[in-house]
Amino acid sequence: MPATITEPARQIPLYGEYEVAVLGGGPAGIAAAVAAARAGRRTLLIERYGFLGGMGTAAGVTNFCGLHANVFGTAHRVVQGVASDLLARIDRLGGLNAPHLILGKIYAQAYDTAAYKIAADDLLGAHKVDILFHALGAGVVMDGSRIDALMVETKAGRQAVRAGVFIDCSGDGDLAAWAGAPYEVGDNAGSMLFPSMMLRLNGIDPEKAGDAWRTIPVLMEKAVAAGTHTFPRKGAIVRPQKSGIEWRVNFTQLAREDGSAVNGLEPDQMTRGEIEGRRQAQQAFEFLRTVPGFEKSYIVDLPPQLGIRETRRVVGGYMLSGEDVLGCASFEDSIGVNGWPMEQHVAGDVVFKFPPIPESRGFNELPYRMLVPEGVDNLLMAGRCASMTHEGQSAARVSGACFAMGEAVGAAADLALAGNTIPRDIAVEKLQQTLKQQGAFIGRDQSVPEGL
Ligand SMILES: Cc1cc2nc3c(=O)[nH]c(=O)nc-3n(C[C@H](O)[C@H](O)[C@H](O)COP(=O)(O)OP(=O)(O)OC[C@H]3O[C@@H](n4cnc5c(N)ncnc54)[C@H](O)[C@@H]3O)c2cc1C
Repeated sequence: MPATITEPARQIPLYGEYEVAVLGGGPAGIAAAVAAARAGRRTLLIERYGFLGGMGTAAGVTNFCGLHANVFGTAHRVVQGVASDLLARIDRLGGLNAPHLILGKIYAQAYDTAAYKIAADDLLGAHKVDILFHALGAGVVMDGSRIDALMVETKAGRQAVRAGVFIDCSGDGDLAAWAGAPYEVGDNAGSMLFPSMMLRLNGIDPEKAGDAWRTIPVLMEKAVAAGTHTFPRKGAIVRPQKSGIEWRVNFTQLAREDGSAVNGLEPDQMTRGEIEGRRQAQQAFEFLRTVPGFEKSYIVDLPPQLGIRETRRVVGGYMLSGEDVLGCASFEDSIGVNGWPMEQHVAGDVVFKFPPIPESRGFNELPYRMLVPEGVDNLLMAGRCASMTHEGQSAARVSGACFAMGEAVGAAADLALAGNTIPRDIAVEKLQQTLKQQGAFIGRDQSVPEGL
């Protein structure tokens, strides 16, 4: 047992009382806050950084996956709703790429992080969401099985936020864990999807680089075979951003000394992971400078934090599984869909597993039950900490599904408050109807949206 000290009890100022409070401003939190505020709910979004976007900006991801699905051999954008509004705003700022094909099977869409941050501010502003930046959620005060208040640490000291419904979009299930909801961590055997330190290079000659995203993995294999290099993983993703002189580099992999993944919940491991991540980024850069077109490149950005793919997965009424993803499962309580395949970041490699293409419809539905935790009455969760198995999470953790889940919990919070009930007991048909009316695609009997 580590040594402990006793902190004296103290009075905490009440920052505010809200109808809905959302912890975390990644894709799930953005969509949740917009959906709740759009329904007329006084909504607060709390974020530890000074900008929105979650891993998409804070970890430098710069690429949306899961907006599209390969439906019987044809690509469709299956995540709409709030995501469409956000994408249009990023596009108006000139920060959105055209969708690009991955592995010849599925589309992703790159964006500029500055445009994402500005567009997300605008989107939340347009819907009158209150935002509290630079506030780290740090604990809860419970009233039986309800959360009475969320504690946040700010430069002005500790403050409390009260709300009728709380939504955990922290990615790590922080709020759910403090409230006592059950959760699993990673593969339940001490590891999880491996984190990566992203980087972006500038100063590339786009003509000369051509489609180097194809040749770089081959050059890496040759370098390993020749014994000149070792790399932390296979399957590097190096692709151009909107301006072809800038490329994103997803190349690194962070392990502990025993070979298991760095744990995003452990401060000492995160500290080591950040430093080792930057070291690996420099190594990746030195290799990439040898690729034609990259000779004059330089590292233009290392993001604010190490990219964390998986930590806690909160246990809800249903856990979305790998079989659900590969089998394109349907659910009566569907609130949205996931078209991204399983993408498992395992030791030294990245393994993709797709539903049958072109024989299947290429997406699974997402049941409302995966957003409602066990044991806590006024809490919902969305995003990568929603109720999924380790395998299911390797697919539905990407931005597209997180937007869809977020939009659903925001609307569900409104219905719970309107019906004076708890989120677990709302009429799901009403939620489905609301989502459809607001432009979301939830699967079921809806026709699949056309186009990219
Ligand atoms: C290296 C890497 C590459 C990836 N590549 C892609 C890709 O190409 N395309 C894609 O779509 N997805 C990709 N992903 C996955 C995707 O980025 C995430 O799974 C997705 O962002 C999850 O969304 P979220 O809203 O659930 O959580 P997050 O994006 O993690 O957002 C959570 C937010 O909550 C905040 N927060 C957390 N805890 C607290 C707290 N206690 N108090 C206050 N705020 C808090 C965080 O600062 C963050 O802003 C990648 C992930 C990584 C790590």
